[in-house]
Amino acid sequence: MAKNNEDLMDKVVSLCKRRGFIFQSSDIYGGLANAWDYGPYGVELKNNLKRAWWKSVVQERDDIFGMDASILMHPKVWEASGHVENFYDLKSDCKSCKKRFKTADLKDQNKCPECAGELTEGRKFNLMFKTYQGPVEDVANLIYLRPETAQGMFVNFLNILDSKHPKLPFGLAQIGKAFRNEITPGNFTFRTREFEQMEVEYFTRPEEADKKLEEWIDYRFKWYLDLGIKKENLKKRPHTKEELAHYAKACTDIEYNFPFGWSELEGVANRTDFDLKQHAEASGKDLQYFDDAEKKKFYPYIIEPSGGVDRSVLAFLTDAYHEEKVKADTRVVLKLHKDLAPTKVAVLPLLKNRPQIVELAKKIASGLKKSFITVYDDTAAIGKLYRRQDEVGTLFCVTIDVQSLEDKQVTVRSRDTMQQERVNINQLQNYLGTFLSS
Ligand code: ATP
Repeated sequence: MAKNNEDLMDKVVSLCKRRGFIFQSSDIYGGLANAWDYGPYGVELKNNLKRAWWKSVVQERDDIFGMDASILMHPKVWEASGHVENFYDLKSDCKSCKKRFKTADLKDQNKCPECAGELTEGRKFNLMFKTYQGPVEDVANLIYLRPETAQGMFVNFLNILDSKHPKLPFGLAQIGKAFRNEITPGNFTFRTREFEQMEVEYFTRPEEADKKLEEWIDYRFKWYLDLGIKKENLKKRPHTKEELAHYAKACTDIEYNFPFGWSELEGVANRTDFDLKQHAEASGKDLQYFDDAEKKKFYPYIIEPSGGVDRSVLAFLTDAYHEEKVKADTRVVLKLHKDLAPTKVAVLPLLKNRPQIVELAKKIASGLKKSFITVYDDTAAIGKLYRRQDEVGTLFCVTIDVQSLEDKQVTVRSRDTMQQERVNINQLQNYLGTFLSS
């Protein structure tokens, strides 16, 4: 299917709702704009994606430690990090229609793109959500919802040095929620005010930082391809000097060709020693690394691959969406990578009014559930059951028929090839395992 076709996004959004991947938040109250809830398939997909990331950046490496810092942090963190002063967008309001725009998105910063009315000058708007800790709502109790997970790792640098005694280069990794009061959220889950990030903070010798930045860009780029994103839909885009965040010396975005155009999936930045120096100064703690061999102290540089869970889920969903003509029918199939597919196996009895078939099918399903995410479904005719499973990306359908009662074999149908094979029930687990194990 051609990318950028106008209705691909609509089709994905509709599939997400219809089949229980992603729902509008607070739907029964008319919905909360730009907030989304992950349903039964969505949460499996999202968890699989996070697991695949964790496996790649923590489990399979011996230089990275996992972490899980709290969302609420000391307000001084955000002063030291520069977010209180610098984490803002400029917004322009239309004096006639009252619509609000991100100034940077406007072609003409004086004229409203909706009604041609006069716009206010771009005004700074800090993107951090504020709240109060404890029952008293005064300035002394003001805290922020974190706008990035990164700071939770920087402020734990000393704890990691003292508890793990790592040698450079080493990194910290975490997945967690972040909040930004975006002026113009939209494009489904692409830009929201509450989202999840997967971030690595990789501490390295300053003289090696440029090389490590390139290594990380390649490592992360390959991760998306290995999980099935089509090569032609992924590219690297180095930032211009003007675009760089206040803390960064260099940054390359990994972009995906979304139905609404090329947009950022992940940013890989060289944050230099900015954060450690800022926190050392503000906290009064020595956050330098002591090099045993050279007997000297210095601030490491930090390479940060920072990706969005929700944006990745959306990219993998749109990339996997396929429509195929099968006779007079259109077969919708989500060709998700086996590690990402929410359901691995569906067990389907061919005749639900034959108790022996149903009993055998349920027994097989409950056996498989111990190893793979497996569902049992007998609520429609087999053709419809197959279509349902294709739409949510289930890798294998196992059907049990009258013959299965005699020859102890079942039919296994592959999602991608639609080939069917008879397999002995006692070999089914191994058969599926050879395809599904990573
Ligand atoms: P953008 O330019 O799209 O606003 P950014 O450069 O501000 O993104 P970063 O600060 O680099 O984003 O955040 C790292 C990652 O977190 C992004 O690549 C993206 O995947 C995710 N992310 C950032 N903001 C949002 C958001 N509002 N909604 C969903 N994901 C987000």
